[in-house]
Formats: sequence, C-alpha cells, structure tokens
Amino acid sequence: MKLLHIAFIIICLPIASLAQIQTHQHSRVIQFPDVPGYLTLSTDLHQHTVFSDGYVWPNIRVLEAAADSLDVISMTDHIEYLPHKEEIPPVNFNRSHELASQYALPYDLVVIQGAEITRGYPPGHTNALFIQDANLLNVPDSVDAFKEAKRQGAFLFWNHPDWFRDSDDAVATLHDLHRDFIKNDMLHGIEVVNDLTYSEEALQIALDQNLTIMGTSDIHGLVDWQYHVHEGGHRPVTLVFATERTTESIKEALFDRRTVVYFNDMLIGREQHVKPLLNACIALSSNGYIGTSTVLGVTLSNNSNALLILANQSEYNFRRDGDVIILPPGGEKKLEVKVLANLDEIKLDFQVMNAITAPGTHPEISIGVKAN
Ligand code: ZN
Repeated sequence: MKLLHIAFIIICLPIASLAQIQTHQHSRVIQFPDVPGYLTLSTDLHQHTVFSDGYVWPNIRVLEAAADSLDVISMTDHIEYLPHKEEIPPVNFNRSHELASQYALPYDLVVIQGAEITRGYPPGHTNALFIQDANLLNVPDSVDAFKEAKRQGAFLFWNHPDWFRDSDDAVATLHDLHRDFIKNDMLHGIEVVNDLTYSEEALQIALDQNLTIMGTSDIHGLVDWQYHVHEGGHRPVTLVFATERTTESIKEALFDRRTVVYFNDMLIGREQHVKPLLNACIALSSNGYIGTSTVLGVTLSNNSNALLILANQSEYNFRRDGDVIILPPGGEKKLEVKVLANLDEIKLDFQVMNAITAPGTHPEISIGVKAN
C-alpha cells in the first residue's frame, strides 16, 4: 500500500507541478480579446522609477510589463518630487523614458513618454502623456506646467483624486481649477482606479465631465510584491481600444475616451465600451437537447483573464444551477437550460455583476445560440 502510495506520488508529482507552473504563467498575463473595429491593448500608464521616488531602474518596469504581456507602458516620474536627487541628480527629466524605450526594443511593447506634474491640491497630481520634453514642465507655476503640457499635445489625467492626503474621507472632489482645466482642454482623464483603490466618486466625475476613465498601478516598488502576482493577483490596467498598435493610435483612443479599467475582479467603463468587451469575452455553444427532453445543454466560455459573475435575467432557468453563475478566467461552465419546448434557437440574458458602467450599475448582455 505504502509502495503504491510512493509510486503514485512519483508519477503524479511532475504532472502536478507542471500544471501549477502553467497556471501561474497563464494567470499573470493581462490580455483581453479584441472588440469589433478595435484592438484591445493592455496599458499601465502611471509608473515610477529611481528617477523620481520609485525604487527600481527602468529596465525592471519593462521586464514586469513583458511578464504581464502588457502592450503599452509609460514612465511617469515626478517632476517636482525627487527624494533620490543626491544620488541621481535631476539633469534630464526625459531619462527614465529614454532608458525604458531602449530596454523595450526586444519586446512587443509601446513606451509612451510621460511625466507626473506633482502639485498640492488643487490641482493635485496629474500625468501628462505623449509629451516630447519633460524638462519644459519644470516651471514654478502649476498652471504654466499644464499650459506647456497642452502645447506639447499632452493627454492629461488627474491621479488618485481620492488620495488621503487631499481628502480625509477618500471622496474625490472636483475643484473649480479642475473645471477650468477641463474647459480649457488641459484635463482629459481621471484615475478611477489607482494602485489598490477604486473611487465611485471619480467614476461619477468621469461620466459627468466626459473624462477618460483611467486605472493605473502607480507602482513604486515591484509589481509582483505589490499585487501578489504569485498568488494570482494582477496590477490594475487600462484597456485601450485602438485602431492600431501605435503611439498615435493610442493617443487618439485615449482622447476619444475608449477605455475600460480592469482591477481585481472589476471591469469599469462606459456601457458602450464594456458591453462589446463582454461580448468578445463570453461565448455560448450548444450541446443539444438532453435525450428526448426540452432541456438544452449549453456551454458558456470565458475568453478573458477576468472572473465573470453573471446573474441570470433570461426567460429560462437552469436544471442544475441557481441564478448566479461564476465563469472562471479562461474557463467554462456547462448549463442545462429548461427551455420548455424544442426551440431551434434560444437567447440567454445576463447581468454582469462585476462589470460597472456607473456607480451601482451593471450592464446586461444577451447571447443567442442555435440549439443544434
Ligand atoms: Zn505617481
């Protein structure tokens, strides 16, 4: 018996550990299917290095992004906050971008030039992307820094608007200065997710002010440690729906607000962007009617890295399941649908409870399937 046990362990152990490795490799990839008309690009557009208050050299940011299979990154080091300036004198604010761009050459990775304009509230901290020269943002007056970023054609987004340092209640609040910036084309997006936080108020501000919905890591240390990647965690990303995998195309998509944020088990964005993404992620196929019954076997599959929580809104219920269906990342779920007749085609409707299109609002999707 004991010998058999040992033999079992010897035979099964390599298989078990291989399966574990494969699961780990799969789980850290952050990729979603394309949607009609657009590529779905995974981006992390707020990251720090030793060139401001981060703790790593820019090559680490590139290697982390490659490990996560991201499409686009940006080094957004602070212009005004430089705690390592004794060790790394601030002679060139473009340096972390230049280095990251060089390190990214062997990888299929777009590096966008950025910087963080770091001022007290208001306006607080703001990222400027698609700039050409970060050195020119190093000016005394914050409004002048925004004007210079605009002159360089920057896409500007408000970082962590719910930050404790600016609001004890962690409620994002729009200031008159932000309204002025929005009116004068100097503020285009807002972080609804920053690092480990999600702000419903920031989402409402994005919807009210027609700003781009952003989610970023704002990573200073290591992505693996901050998000427990070894345990299946992931950094927040902004999924950008772009026509091409180019800097210009990504810029156009961000200005046009075509984003969905993926954070923990949430997909956050406008309905017109979340719904096509969900439709691309979820597929339904038929296994035929069971015997001579009117119960149709179907398989729901999830073609994404996100767990999906579906609440049944269909006219049918299920033989084996309740009205909440958990669809694991990259997995599938078999359902037995009580159709009550031998219809050639049925339609299932679900509310996706972990997708958010406005505070307290979850989108509905409808999927048709031919019975045979
Ligand atoms: Zn930052």
